[in-house]
Amino acid sequence: MTSLENSDGAIYDLIVLGAGPAGLTAAIYAGRAQLRTLVIEPKVAGGEITLTDSLENYPGFPEGVGGFEFGMLLEQHAARFGAEIVYADVNGVQAEGSVKEVSTASGVFRGRTLIIATGTVPRYLGVPGEELLIGKGISFCATCDAPLFKNKKTAVIGGGDAAVEEALYLTRFAEEVHLIHRRNELRAAVYLQKRFFENQKVKFVGETIVQEFRGDKKLESILLQNVADKSTSELSVDGAFLFVGRTPSTGLIEGIEMDEGGFIKTSEEMETSIPGVFAAGDVRRKLLRQVVTAAADGAIAATMALKYLELGETM
Ligand code: NAP
Repeated sequence: MTSLENSDGAIYDLIVLGAGPAGLTAAIYAGRAQLRTLVIEPKVAGGEITLTDSLENYPGFPEGVGGFEFGMLLEQHAARFGAEIVYADVNGVQAEGSVKEVSTASGVFRGRTLIIATGTVPRYLGVPGEELLIGKGISFCATCDAPLFKNKKTAVIGGGDAAVEEALYLTRFAEEVHLIHRRNELRAAVYLQKRFFENQKVKFVGETIVQEFRGDKKLESILLQNVADKSTSELSVDGAFLFVGRTPSTGLIEGIEMDEGGFIKTSEEMETSIPGVFAAGDVRRKLLRQVVTAAADGAIAATMALKYLELGETM
């Protein structure tokens, strides 16, 4: 046993997997309700939102708030109400039974309830050259890497909120931003589309898919195919940013009901198919994946965990 394990032999009331907006909101609510709460996070407090330049649609921040700053504020808020946070990779989760067990690089932790708020990871296209050129011109975060492409030619792949938002951010640095999307219509929210089409630096390349990323030591071009007439063309670029959706981080959770996309199925009360296990935020099947809905999920999940602890499986 390492010093970080439940060294006093006590079992946490609640273990939260993931310190994004869902997990940390759950920790705030659980902490305020006097539950002994542990949050386990492999990377950074705030999760994916820390990669966002400015969070503009969270209530109470009319001028927006930096994603990283927001993550830090959430962590402070959870700590203020007594939640403990451990930064460690999770190796295994035993979610069944009355005591849940989470094995991490820093030891094994036990809790009576579990909230899974592990979010999602970026999806790959699975085309030749992609894996080889990640970090050598291919990126999954414009907010992180855009300054590397000052006055350079870039492409963004995807047509959702992330693709359009990050393409707009890229225009602050890059000379050209080609947005390559498999359909002729964007999926992104209308307000983002309006900003996008008003921007002189972007070029919308619709009905087009990526066939290959080309380059030896670094990305040099992208082989494209028009889906309508099947013609191919090569676009010279220095950078390509991929935003073709996200995959839920559920690899370690066994025996829980998921949908065909791997998202955890929950009731409106965030209950999963396993008693005492709740899911919150982007990792669960839901309509709207936003910080505000993640926070709401976290609040509900923590409230239900409290109720479960009071009533047990009879609730
Ligand atoms: P998304 O909404 O699922 O969009 C993924 C995009 O990638 C879609 O346009 C899709 O095309 C395209 N795509 C998927 N697989 C592809 C493939 N194999 N080849 C080519 N294109 C492919 O994902 P997201 O943009 O990452 O957003 C994820 C969630 O976070 C959404 O709920 C979104 O609203 C939210 N989000 C919100 C904000 C914000 O509010 N500011 C910012 C970022 C993300 P089709 O359109 O043809 O399906």
